[in-house]
Amino acid sequence: MDKTVSPKEWVKDLPEYVAGRTIEEIRKKYNLSVVYKLASNENIFGPSPKVIDFLKNNFDDINYYPDADALEIRLKISSHYSINKDNVIMGNGTDQIIEMICDCFIDKGDNIVTADPNFLIYEKSALKCGGNTIKIPIIKDNFRHNIDGIINAVDKNTKIIFLASPHNPTGTIISKPEFEKVLELKDVLIVMDEAYFEYVEDIFKINTIDYIKSCKNLIILRTFSKIFGLAGLRIGYGIADTEIIKILNKIRLPFNINLLAQKAACVAIDNYDYVEEIKNLNLKEKEKFYKIFDELGIEFVKSFANFILVNFKQKCDEIIEKLLCKGFIIRPGKNLGLPGYARITISTPDVNDRFLKVLKEVILN
Ligand code: PMP
Repeated sequence: MDKTVSPKEWVKDLPEYVAGRTIEEIRKKYNLSVVYKLASNENIFGPSPKVIDFLKNNFDDINYYPDADALEIRLKISSHYSINKDNVIMGNGTDQIIEMICDCFIDKGDNIVTADPNFLIYEKSALKCGGNTIKIPIIKDNFRHNIDGIINAVDKNTKIIFLASPHNPTGTIISKPEFEKVLELKDVLIVMDEAYFEYVEDIFKINTIDYIKSCKNLIILRTFSKIFGLAGLRIGYGIADTEIIKILNKIRLPFNINLLAQKAACVAIDNYDYVEEIKNLNLKEKEKFYKIFDELGIEFVKSFANFILVNFKQKCDEIIEKLLCKGFIIRPGKNLGLPGYARITISTPDVNDRFLKVLKEVILN
């Protein structure tokens, strides 16, 4: 390419994004009539039927730009959590909020501290701003964040700590004492990514939003992509002190949340019973997986989310390929920094049963 149109150095060095396999691709490749994707931690049940009904009947206004302030959904979220609407910022998925946070706070030479493995967008967003990532390996025995390691890694160039609870790809959570220990740090931003928060059993949940009043350096991230079943519409949110939200809003593109996403999310939050229903179903279904894994002698990490990390060891690639031939896409751990492992998204009871039956055949034959 001509030098004048050459991209920036950091873009040149970036590996190309490898997206998960699509249903259509696998269907054609293996000549299958049905393919199930258990690879991207979506809610396979889909959104609440009330959201679907609403969407079917509310296309009339799409010739208009959406509300640039996304006021209605911010009001719904703030009233749900008893906070102020000015504590809430919306993003085109929480991906976009992670990117906005780095754009606002990371400069060349700064760093972020996070777990290894982690959700790749943290690192990529920091890199874009000239920032490095200090990665602290998760604890080998239990796949949890090494909180002391993360705190000790903070140096004079650290701007942000990214924590994920539940963590992707392990499904482990951060405990309340661990969270509070990190919050003792006052000179860095602390981002608590809770994309899978609603899947956690109530007894293990931390009411992280309660802390934003006392911790001016805390940002909570949640999304409509997971339990609410709206991944395709792209809508997530951040909750923080109003000063942080004001800063993030300065760089936010005005129409970053499309009109249907704003409306659908309002209906979704009005029907919160559905979230409880999915949470309980997911808990029940996970037990089915654990039972079969135990029967088959497959090591797994007990998960607080809607996916499970399993250890297929040396046979991992072979097992993943055999499952693909039979119409099941799961996520290879090697793409997520955990070779030998695979991440499996919990689906509907019927699909889970089919998957577990096929897995048994693949492992035992
Ligand atoms: N954080 C974590 C830990 C995730 O796994 C994901 C989605 N895979 C996200 C954030 C982003 O979610 P979204 O952009 O769809 O809101």
